[in-house]
Amino acid sequence: MLIVQKYGGSSLADADKVRNVAGRIARSRDAGNQVVTVVSAMGDTTDELIGLANRVAERPDARELDVLLSTGELVSCTLMAMALRTMGYASVSLSGAQAGILTDTSYGRARIAGVAPGRIMSEVDEGNIVIVAGFQGITEDMDITTLGRGGSDTTAVAIAAGLGADRCEVYTDVDGIYTADPRLVPRARRLDEIGFEEMLELASYGAKMNPRSIEMGMRYNVPILVASSFTDGKGTLIHGEVDMNGNVGEIRNRVRGIATDTNVAKITVLGVIDRPGIAASLFEPLAQADISVDVIVQNASVDGTTDMTFTVTRTDLARALEVVQPVVEALGSRGTVSDDSLAKLSIVGSGMQDAPGYASRMFRALADKSINIDSITTSEIRITCLVNESQVADAACALHDAFQLDAPQE
Ligand code: ASP
Ligand code: MG
Repeated sequence: MLIVQKYGGSSLADADKVRNVAGRIARSRDAGNQVVTVVSAMGDTTDELIGLANRVAERPDARELDVLLSTGELVSCTLMAMALRTMGYASVSLSGAQAGILTDTSYGRARIAGVAPGRIMSEVDEGNIVIVAGFQGITEDMDITTLGRGGSDTTAVAIAAGLGADRCEVYTDVDGIYTADPRLVPRARRLDEIGFEEMLELASYGAKMNPRSIEMGMRYNVPILVASSFTDGKGTLIHGEVDMNGNVGEIRNRVRGIATDTNVAKITVLGVIDRPGIAASLFEPLAQADISVDVIVQNASVDGTTDMTFTVTRTDLARALEVVQPVVEALGSRGTVSDDSLAKLSIVGSGMQDAPGYASRMFRALADKSINIDSITTSEIRITCLVNESQVADAACALHDAFQLDAPQE
């Protein structure tokens, strides 16, 4: 089998851990597989590099910053190849550029435009275990880009798709995808499997996987196994063929999981005149500034004016307020208020779309714990409430109980 593996930064935090992972890669090779492994930067390297850049420049140049950040993954991929060679395995490291990861030009959040698999495949054919630096690629003009935080997952799925690999395995410090964040909900349970759509919603609303990697897996139908790099558990298979009806427990519990996200800030623009074009004039400049907005709520207008509420990440709050300010003045609105003490709490399940009553059960469970809901949004397979951050653990536990998510899967 041709297998693409990915190991995250916490699994590679020091030299011993690098050697431990090398042992795991070697085992997969010994089992007769051809192995391509994508690695993240060791431990907190990426944060440290960002910190360094911020100490020499107020606004580090985007192109320079990406080259700097790409070095974190070069450290881990070269060390991994050395460790494997010492163990007697033929191995070669490749930077993203050498591996043929082609991207667009948006520094810091580049999208993979294609994978030229030639070099990886020729190394594999020569018998090498190929170690690819994750999180990075190269533009048409030969500039180095990075893919956004957590981008190594995306590198791995893209390579698996590009090589037509048999499977993609993402190894991390948890042993799979859980019904909720186990740090908040001690009774959370590992899922054996989950569908792409559900996983995409969970990842977009707080679960630790990079949503772009799920999108990529969905588009190219690459099954992704998420498992621990420290133990030998079964992990969770993310794939396109979850049979909702093959599982009694899941028929009763059409909620598959709960996502929580505390990197949330809310902005409300007060007293916006209610006429065509207002929402566009508010959100266009935010889009231009590359700020993504979510949970958009507009009140029905009473006296010809309305309030417009939306969320951004806390990291984007200051910038979003800067961008919105001139628009608010031009529109003659009464000003803005912001709140960075909220969290997103979501229930996700593809079975919810054709069964009524999920929203009311969610609201009842929160009400019974006296948890106030700030705003609500939904998709076909998700219901999200903004709640106070200090109550998010209680709220997640209440929902986990209300939807009986600790019931075993079979
Ligand atoms: N090293 C990068 C980060 O910390 C990419 C990754 O870990 O996937 O965001
Ligand atoms: Mg990392």
